[in-house]
Amino acid sequence: MFVELSNTARKLCIIGDPVTHSKSPLLQNAMCQTLGLDYIYLCQPVKPEGLADFLSAAKVLDYAGFNATMPFKELLIPYLDELDPLAKKLGAVNTVCIRESKLYGYNTDCPGFVQALLDRGFDAKGKRVLLLGAGGAAKAVAVGLADAGAAAITVANRTQAKAEAVAELIQGQGSVTAWSVPALTKAAAECDLLVNATSLGMAGQGAFEDLSFLRALPPAAMAADLIYHPVETTLLKEARALGHKTMNGGPLLIHQAIFALEYFAGVHISPKSVVLPLIELLGRS
Ligand code: NAP
Repeated sequence: MFVELSNTARKLCIIGDPVTHSKSPLLQNAMCQTLGLDYIYLCQPVKPEGLADFLSAAKVLDYAGFNATMPFKELLIPYLDELDPLAKKLGAVNTVCIRESKLYGYNTDCPGFVQALLDRGFDAKGKRVLLLGAGGAAKAVAVGLADAGAAAITVANRTQAKAEAVAELIQGQGSVTAWSVPALTKAAAECDLLVNATSLGMAGQGAFEDLSFLRALPPAAMAADLIYHPVETTLLKEARALGHKTMNGGPLLIHQAIFALEYFAGVHISPKSVVLPLIELLGRS
């Protein structure tokens, strides 16, 4: 992709370890170009022990901000001057703005997932959710859906204590079920939305040993997977074959990026102007 770069372009980047697989530079540079925003977005590998040095350098080099992926979403918290209430509740940030050498942290994964569902005509208000996984992404999904008014969110995770911690975050709306096929089958039968927020199904990671619980989903239930590589996981393929509406991780990736750029550039971005070209760009990448 050809990026026309001005001498006044403000710098942005994504930090992570590893990070070179990230699609954020592709998406953010395409959005900046489409919207005429004078920014350049780089991929910046940082080791955990180099985080403090990176933050000093970013301030000196006048970066407008950066996104963070594993393992920095939680590690960044003690370094921030201000934390948005949502990021505070989650204890994790994926977006940091640098203004007058101060660091402001946000989490755009929560609203990103809710908006991705809304784009597909799924309003979480009053809905019952079965959430698989209890890592960083699952936490963001749980809080996003709870804030959007989900009636009940049942969390299942291999490590049950982590599922309990996620349910605790969304008290009143959260509960836990066991990580077993009978328990998942029972919970699936009672949900309107199934979300896979584990890494099972991702290229190079493990796979679900038994997906028979999908057959218990009510006909109108939707299945979402946060994974976008592969484009369609086995879980989504099977859910689609059973007649369910499905969504992969691409729309979340795109919407969290749109919200992040709004924070960086201080502008409102109409999703309609960028979502479809970004979905095509992701598909081609
Ligand atoms: P994480 O914090 O490392 O959590 C990983 C989750 O997967 C945990 O719940 C873990 O269970 C579970 N898991 C891993 N291996 C398992 C196995 N063999 N059997 C059962 N459960 C297993 O990772 P994360 O950041 O939450 O990311 C989770 C997934 O979401 C990844 O695939 C990631 O690529 C995707 N993601 C997508 C986006 C997007 O923009 N689309 C954004 C963020 C994340 P335990 O707690 O028992 O270990």
